Amino acid sequence: MLSVEGLRKSFGGNQVLTSIDLSVQTGGVLALIGPSGSGKTTVLRCLNGLEIPDGGRVGFAGGPAVDFGSPVGRKQISELRDRSAMVFQHYNLFPHMTVLQNIIEGPVQVQKRPRAEAVREAMSLLERVGLTGKEDQYPHQLSGGQQQRVGIVRALALKPSLLLFDEPTSALDPELVGDVLHVIKELADEGWTMALVTHELAFAREVASEVVFMDGGVVVERGHPDQVLREPQEERTRQFVHRLL
Ligand code: ADP
Repeated sequence: MLSVEGLRKSFGGNQVLTSIDLSVQTGGVLALIGPSGSGKTTVLRCLNGLEIPDGGRVGFAGGPAVDFGSPVGRKQISELRDRSAMVFQHYNLFPHMTVLQNIIEGPVQVQKRPRAEAVREAMSLLERVGLTGKEDQYPHQLSGGQQQRVGIVRALALKPSLLLFDEPTSALDPELVGDVLHVIKELADEGWTMALVTHELAFAREVASEVVFMDGGVVVERGHPDQVLREPQEERTRQFVHRLL
């Protein structure tokens, strides 16, 4: 579904991603783990066109790869952006819009889909995540866990090829984490293709088809969750997973 080669990104003089190679199979779940500041969020933001890489190639199945080594047009960025949808750590819902308005904004305003159809789909997605009856509430009237489930529904409503989750539970109170992880697990079981940045290593082991350990802007180790999380080959990976598991 997704293939990334040689992805590079600097901020000012700070090289944040050195040469990242990744791939995600259709229906696969890629878990990105690693210490804070290792570049995980920047990888997701580059995939979603929220940051423009300095170099490397990003390709989705069924389309030409975008080569950031040469000048890249607005149209290519917008095509890349349309392939994925992001669920943010801090939900990033529009505070002045109701739950329903938050969800249908992208499908109606950006994708130009009929409003009635977008509303119908939004209501059915809200039901799926246990939020029936919340459609006319504002984000501040919901718990963090409920807001994040709205964030997930908002991403699903765009019907992306790839779902991106950036530490979706790390802003939540511990008792609210389980509900959100449960929804993500169900989506994985349903066959959604996803890339997930997480500190929840036990969850990564349960849900991921591949785990990538990053440190200092490079991929240190990647492989099956059992291998990377239980029998890491690299010392840096070993130290990291032993601290968290
Ligand atoms: P992680 O998700 O692994 O914690 P990030 O991708 O958020 O890592 O950040 C990697 C590095 O890039 C950090 O040193 C961070 O300060 C820096 N960084 C991220 N975004 C920006 C930005 N917009 N401007 C400047 N530096 C940034």
